[in-house]
Amino acid sequence: MTDTMRALVKTAPGPGNIEVREVAVPHAGAGQVRVAVIATGICGTDLHIVDGEFATRPPVIMGHEVTGVIDEIGPDVAPEWFGRRVALETYASTCEACEYCRSGRRNLCSERRSIGSHVDGGFASYVVVPVHNAHSVDESVGYLAGALYEPLACVAHALCDPAVASPGDSALVVGPGTIGLLAAQVLRSQCASVVVVGTERDAVRLKAASELGFVAVRSEDVPSATPNGGFTVVAECSGSERGVTTALRSARKAGRFVQVGLFGHPVPIELDLVCLKELEVTSGNASTPRSWGRAERLVLSGSISLDRLVSASLPIAAWQEAFARTRTGDCVKLVLEPQTTA
Ligand SMILES: [Zn+2]
Ligand SMILES: [Zn+2]
Repeated sequence: MTDTMRALVKTAPGPGNIEVREVAVPHAGAGQVRVAVIATGICGTDLHIVDGEFATRPPVIMGHEVTGVIDEIGPDVAPEWFGRRVALETYASTCEACEYCRSGRRNLCSERRSIGSHVDGGFASYVVVPVHNAHSVDESVGYLAGALYEPLACVAHALCDPAVASPGDSALVVGPGTIGLLAAQVLRSQCASVVVVGTERDAVRLKAASELGFVAVRSEDVPSATPNGGFTVVAECSGSERGVTTALRSARKAGRFVQVGLFGHPVPIELDLVCLKELEVTSGNASTPRSWGRAERLVLSGSISLDRLVSASLPIAAWQEAFARTRTGDCVKLVLEPQTTA
């Protein structure tokens, strides 16, 4: 093994400032494990980091949707961890003292430092994390698809605590990207009938939605797919102004609006609809230890297909192409495979 590795680094704040660098291979300290990265997913947050719309502490290796195999353990870490295939919770550190940390809501801690933005993440051959951030990946899940545990945990946080749908409910998922297609599957696990909506540029993603068994429509066709009076639950997963408008207008009175997507900047919203329809508004910010448990149960129960959401994998050197394709929407989830050199 060499002492250096190739990594995708945010080198300075602001838009751009991303480059592939040779950096030192990290080692696991006390309480830590080192993960030989199999794959790390490219997420909307990474695009916001490229655009300078998401707080980072550069220079930092990007990438937070990580799966890999533990290849080094800290001196005090139980030996069973060695060699295990895992997915990673993203919080490298939180204060553990504030009311949020103490009530299991580490995602809301103002001292939260996450991999891929504040500390080195998974767009590299190796990443070091606290051992309690590692979760075993079920054997049924394909190697690359282990990278989807993290987004699933985020979706489970927004949709399962509290459960947003009950048997017989109708749900509209706005935005057929990875988060939307995970949300649709979680809502189906709650026995809702689910419609997924996208725009004219989402043909590939809408096809994936219909292959997963959902009614998949373009935004102009939402009215004809809407049940009488509107949807019981609308989940906005696109992080776009148009998406939030579609979601609010499609909700039925006394329904629930769930904001899952992030916009990265302020957008105009028809907030009157929240009052006029007496909508219940909920959301979710990243994941919690509890939502990781939910994600694991959802996978084990067979409710969620992760494998079918991975469209392609590329080497780190091709990051620009991969990020550009993620932006255009001609794929579902793209992952980078750091061990592949090309
Ligand atoms: Zn993400
Ligand atoms: Zn805290």
